[in-house]
Amino acid sequence: MIVVMSPNATKKNLENVLKKLEKLNLRTHLSEGEDRTIVGVIGDKKIIANLEMEMMAGVEKTVRITEKYKLVSRDFHPLDTIIDVDGVKIGGEKIVVMAGPCAVESLEQLRETAQAVKSCGAEILRGGAFKPRTSPYDFQGLGEEGLKLLRKVADEFGMKVVTEIVDRSDLELVENYADILQVGARNMQNFQMLKALGESKKPVMLKRGLSATISEWLNAAEYIMSGGNENVIFCERGIRTYETFTRNTLDLSAVAAIKELSHLPIVVDPSHGTGRRTMIAPMSKAAIAAGADALMIEVHPHPEVALSDGNQSLTPESFKNLMNDLNGIAKAVGKTL
Ligand code: PEP
Ligand code: MN
Repeated sequence: MIVVMSPNATKKNLENVLKKLEKLNLRTHLSEGEDRTIVGVIGDKKIIANLEMEMMAGVEKTVRITEKYKLVSRDFHPLDTIIDVDGVKIGGEKIVVMAGPCAVESLEQLRETAQAVKSCGAEILRGGAFKPRTSPYDFQGLGEEGLKLLRKVADEFGMKVVTEIVDRSDLELVENYADILQVGARNMQNFQMLKALGESKKPVMLKRGLSATISEWLNAAEYIMSGGNENVIFCERGIRTYETFTRNTLDLSAVAAIKELSHLPIVVDPSHGTGRRTMIAPMSKAAIAAGADALMIEVHPHPEVALSDGNQSLTPESFKNLMNDLNGIAKAVGKTL
């Protein structure tokens, strides 16, 4: 349920509302807009069903939320949420770019990539240290050594780190090195891991599952938020369809859907979304036009020898051209790059 306070409600009115909800052991979530305060209420369904708040002074109305997800819902929090990743803000006017190799392979590879992408404006270095590969015989990542390299190189170039966590038991380890914890598509509904991430202080980037509906994705984010971690970022990375020309079908309508249903920011990953190098630029432009807050793009200094996802990795040079092209699109939708 949400309790909408009237524009002339006093502080005391709000306090009384909160006190009443607290007494009933309900959790509240305040969203203070310019002229109205909204109180989101979660907890025991039966208690909420019988709750009468309209009679209280300062309450304009109450709205029952039928969706299962609440904290991620825009009804609970009408204004856009901006997530501050140690100074890099995701969800505001500036489009944030995360770039780097699919997998961390070596210090040289990472350094060369970071130097190139940072000089074109990327602020967050991506790279997998634990790789969820389809085949057990493919490169599985460097593990902790990869995390160390990410931190070292990101610090060298003044960047932040986003990297994937594939197992709940690695949480402390990954937290030690990363600025954003990435939940991969294959783990979107790993509920035990989502619960553990709910207790983390680090922002979480939640990739959409390979065949997840928008509602399942929102509910996965609700797991993290209901555990107390409010810094959740969505990432659209394509879904499985009957199409085989592309690796996945990048669902850009998800950007508009998430913006309508949630206050949380959304990143688009055209690299995994298409699997094809030639499609990264057009899909990045379309993502920004559709309202994406950030992009995640795979870049490798020598894609032809990459240990994973070489086919979809841009060279530093093509990444530079892309960043130049994106400037105009960002401007056209009232944003900066
Ligand atoms: C990745 O970003 O490295 C990755 C494995 O992506 P996804 O989980 O979307 O397949
Ligand atoms: Mn990849």
